Amino acid sequence: MRCSICDEQLTGDEHNAMPVTTGSCCGRCNSNIVIPFRLYEFGKNTQEGLVISPDFTMKIIKPEGEKFKLKELQKEVQGYIEYYPVNNHKYKVIVNEEGLLMRLPMNRLSSNMFGIHAVGNVLVIPTKLLE
Ligand SMILES: [Zn+2]
Repeated sequence: MRCSICDEQLTGDEHNAMPVTTGSCCGRCNSNIVIPFRLYEFGKNTQEGLVISPDFTMKIIKPEGEKFKLKELQKEVQGYIEYYPVNNHKYKVIVNEEGLLMRLPMNRLSSNMFGIHAVGNVLVIPTKLLE
């Protein structure tokens, strides 16, 4: 059996991958993704942003001031930012504008979770934290 998030062979303990996806996931994905995602409660948290990485990790970020500055967002996507079109007014999704040119890896985690087809780091930022 394989981890339904990172697709690696499940060797030891299995965890419930909900609400990220159905099936079971490995211990690494459980602690890196499932637990933070549950705590984050997507749709309710408007105080913190989320960075989803192609290496199947996630982290929560907070602005240095009241709102995220362009430089902070550029640092997280490792380049120029581009707004990814989403039908959600609570959050903006930000990706690296030159991600394809830079040959950044596919972000399969963000497509599993939010149906976003992008490369490199994907930021999910509450609209009210943007300038
Ligand atoms: Zn995994």
